[in-house]
Amino acid sequence: MRKIAAQYLFTGHDFISYPIISVSQEGEIIAIEVGILPNKEIADVEFYNGILCPGFVNAHCHLELSHLRNKIAPHTGITGFVKQIIEKRSASLDEVSVAIQAADREMFNNGIVAVGDISNGLDTVHVKSISSIYYHTFVEVFSRDTKPDNQVFSTAFDLLNEFKHADVVPHASYSVSNKLFDALKDYFSEYEDRLYSIHNQESAAENAFFSSSDGELYSFINKGKSANDMKFSANSAIEFLMQYLPVKNNKILIHNTFISHSDIQTLERNFGADTLYFCLCPNSNLFIENVIPPLDLLRSSAFPICIGTDSLASNYTLSVLDELKALSAAFPHVPLKELLTWATYNGAKALKVDSLFGEVTVGRKPGLILLENVDLNSLRLNNSTGVRRVI
Ligand SMILES: [Zn+2]
Repeated sequence: MRKIAAQYLFTGHDFISYPIISVSQEGEIIAIEVGILPNKEIADVEFYNGILCPGFVNAHCHLELSHLRNKIAPHTGITGFVKQIIEKRSASLDEVSVAIQAADREMFNNGIVAVGDISNGLDTVHVKSISSIYYHTFVEVFSRDTKPDNQVFSTAFDLLNEFKHADVVPHASYSVSNKLFDALKDYFSEYEDRLYSIHNQESAAENAFFSSSDGELYSFINKGKSANDMKFSANSAIEFLMQYLPVKNNKILIHNTFISHSDIQTLERNFGADTLYFCLCPNSNLFIENVIPPLDLLRSSAFPICIGTDSLASNYTLSVLDELKALSAAFPHVPLKELLTWATYNGAKALKVDSLFGEVTVGRKPGLILLENVDLNSLRLNNSTGVRRVI
């Protein structure tokens, strides 16, 4: 058994000063004692400078796009980004699998213990089966009436069976046909414990798609079709989505960069606070659109926030800490306690793994990580703040 101490423990909810945490060989928290004296050397206790914290939960990633690191030009907007992905996605099996293994290792070293990962294919099955990280795979479907919907659905279910923990989910409001959305809603209504995720309002063009049946995303998706085939009368992507979002399932809305107050009110009128999560991936938003989500608006909503890294196609690292640093730099008034709750407990709740991860509690194996070079007087992150695994 190890005894681990530091200036602070963040439990998943609160800070505790000068804890000693007893941990078994298997990583199970055996006891948490508080109140040891600063820097006092106690036999058999490992003392760390910084904040101990449960392992991070990365609620949104695309591990299978890891080979696109440094290959996509930034700041091209969502249409430019999607075009580049289509153009550059194909690569040799070797290149793809080496990049996936390295990305899994990178996340582990960055203190990530659980990941919600989007998959369109089977490239990540092997790494997920041997990784120390817990993966929940979201097998993603998209189809704008190009293939029969039952074919899209059955292909997705074939993939789903290859992963240990997985669900079938839609890609985004603009890339899924009404019939496919209906089929997904039926499925989720039948299985209320299944997790739902969808990319939401990542660009202004996504709202224009529905509010004016216009804009660059609209033209890109509907090229070759007559405008009358694809007319919408919703004021925003959320207004359009309301008819399709399942009521009781956990819903993870990813990005929300262009969500409005009125959209949030609509969601609050229709869904319980414990069934919907805003997943923020700020570094990806800065990479693609050069914008940051409206954090104070989202913080004032009834719904919890969690954190994702998105993929290495639109990010320079797979680090939850780097996402927190981006939010903290843009919104310095947000307390560290709140940021860390998003990165740990809320992410675990969103992925329904809160009985395993997200809290340092006796009897759990949440992973234990150390945040170093934090300003411990003001409890603030700064550019040199780093993370490493303690267990
Ligand atoms: Zn994504």
